[in-house]
Amino acid sequence: MTTQTLKAREDLEGTIKGSILVPDDPAYEETRQVWNAMIDRRPAVIVQCAQAEDVPPVIRFARQNGLELSIRGAGHNIAGNALCDNGVTIDFSRMRKVRVDGAKRRAYVEPGATLADLDEATQAHGLATAVGINSTTGIAGLTLGGGFGWLTRKYGMTIDNLVSVDMVTAEGRKIRANENENKDLFWAIRGGGGNFGVVTQFEFKLVPLGPEIVAGLIVFPFSQAKQVLTKYREFVTSAPEELNVWVVLRKAPPLPFLPENVHGNEVVVLPIFYCGATAEAEKLIAPLRVFGEVLGEHIDVQPYVGWQKAFDASLTPGARNYWKSHNFTELADGALNSMIDFAGKLPSPHCEILIGLVAGAANRIAPNAMAYPHRDAKFVLNVHGRWDEAKEDQKCIGWAREFFNASAPYASAGAYVNFMTADEGDRVAAAYGSNYERLAAIKRRYDPENVFHLNQNIKP
Ligand SMILES: Cc1cc2nc3c(=O)[nH]c(=O)nc-3n(C[C@H](O)[C@H](O)[C@H](O)COP(=O)(O)OP(=O)(O)OC[C@H]3O[C@@H](n4cnc5c(N)ncnc54)[C@H](O)[C@@H]3O)c2cc1C
Repeated sequence: MTTQTLKAREDLEGTIKGSILVPDDPAYEETRQVWNAMIDRRPAVIVQCAQAEDVPPVIRFARQNGLELSIRGAGHNIAGNALCDNGVTIDFSRMRKVRVDGAKRRAYVEPGATLADLDEATQAHGLATAVGINSTTGIAGLTLGGGFGWLTRKYGMTIDNLVSVDMVTAEGRKIRANENENKDLFWAIRGGGGNFGVVTQFEFKLVPLGPEIVAGLIVFPFSQAKQVLTKYREFVTSAPEELNVWVVLRKAPPLPFLPENVHGNEVVVLPIFYCGATAEAEKLIAPLRVFGEVLGEHIDVQPYVGWQKAFDASLTPGARNYWKSHNFTELADGALNSMIDFAGKLPSPHCEILIGLVAGAANRIAPNAMAYPHRDAKFVLNVHGRWDEAKEDQKCIGWAREFFNASAPYASAGAYVNFMTADEGDRVAAAYGSNYERLAAIKRRYDPENVFHLNQNIKP
């Protein structure tokens, strides 16, 4: 045992309710895994908090011992900042409770909760809030960076539905931030990531939804990609906000509704989500079928919580991942051409190019209303490099970077912190645009020593 681990046991045991894991503990190895298998960090101490009150002593312990501090929600962030080397990791995997007040339409969420935890609890009341599309993602990281998914067109980003947070500051002080209390801090954490303190509870407003919605996939041949994408671009300009259609360019997985001879070939997939009146769905979705020759489709009335898990099987933890991303206000021909060009040379069967449609409610918020500024973004592109073996690193990372550069001339300025890798620190200022200076000033007030620097860091 190192001095730090011995000291951690001495200082924290008996003070906190949670558990302390050090490298000798049997559970340590499993606990230090995160979603992206490229991350291999070894904290000296992992504290699995059991209650909000456990957080201040852990922050104090790290600071008094000059140790780095990282915060882990559900460990999905590809940059891997949930973990640190030789420091202290606050791990919230034991704090996943979600309490719903159906009458007030509010959810109170612990910081280790996943989207599945939130969706299941809220849907039990016929309610929901706008989150991401992969149910194992953490609410904490997703919300603090912005958060978008199927409901974003209609109800905005996750931060647009955040009502308040309970936090612990770098000094170990417990505070609440909302539109009335600590307003600056509330402004900053809505997009500013984990830069300002440790959130111990999120409060969201909820809207009635489902429990059934209409959703599914339509698949077209890659040879018709240009025509499908051009029609898609036109279609989404007038589609109602209850309807969301994304685009995925990838090799076809062996989906049961696709003919076997299509499996493994490049295809264009349109994932479709509709949360309006079920009777209206067919009329709205029908025009998508004439974008090209349909290779297969599976669209159904289904539980919202089921659709929220629809992509989990292709986004399992344990693969190597390298992502790049751009925002777009429009999909210019050049952008479509570069997508088609790079989808034609996917370096692994798991790599994909994804266009998420976010146009709608999120665009009706002023860019300076909160830290996240990209209110002009209509589409978010995710260049999703994903593969299994370390020997493929160079090839797959190279593909993602090359495509990122080729599509850059058509993108709007800015970046989404939640999709940034560890090597994109130079994009942090662009991620916050004209809000950066105000964020830095708030950082100086709440965390002048940059205790919370394992994130897309805003320098005090
Ligand atoms: C497969 C997959 C699908 C995704 N889909 C979407 C999507 O549809 N929409 C979308 O918007 N994003 C999506 N993302 C991105 C996702 O929002 C980010 O990866 C997010 O950071 C994950 O949150 P987490 O809590 O799981 O991550 P973690 O890695 O645990 O945390 C990320 C960072 O958040 C901060 N943090 C975490 N918890 C706290 C806390 N309690 N207090 C203060 N700071 C904290 C820390 O700085 C930490 O390093 C996806 C990511 C993956 C891997």
